[in-house]
Amino acid sequence: MSETPSIFTRIIDREIPADIVFENDRVIAFRDIAPQAPVHVLVVPKTAAYANVAELAAGDPALLAEVVTVAQQLATDQTDGHFRLVFNTGEEAGQTVFHVHAHVLGGGLKEGTLA
Ligand code: 5GP
Repeated sequence: MSETPSIFTRIIDREIPADIVFENDRVIAFRDIAPQAPVHVLVVPKTAAYANVAELAAGDPALLAEVVTVAQQLATDQTDGHFRLVFNTGEEAGQTVFHVHAHVLGGGLKEGTLA
């Protein structure tokens, strides 16, 4: 395939910088460039094979479980334990990057924001 790599693949490949807070062979996590909460981290499988959580759940449930586990661990580390885990799925739900990712939002959400 000759599709343009997603912005997240470019972060994974170190083509563009990001504030990376976790990384292993399969998953990376970094701070969102436009945070919607005091803690706003994106947890991203390194493979670009899945556009959204529905595809990931169908194609690699173990990888989805790992994304959720990493998200939970980061939330435990970085928030008071009260957090949201959001997978925007589809343009009309606000998804802008079609490389599946979980938003971890915590530490007191700003009023009126929807990430
Ligand atoms: P979505 O809207 O697809 O659920 O979430 C995409 C997220 O990626 C947005 O919250 C947006 O702020 C974030 N984002 C887009 N481009 C970049 C970037 O270059 N670096 C980082 N760290 N986050 C980005």
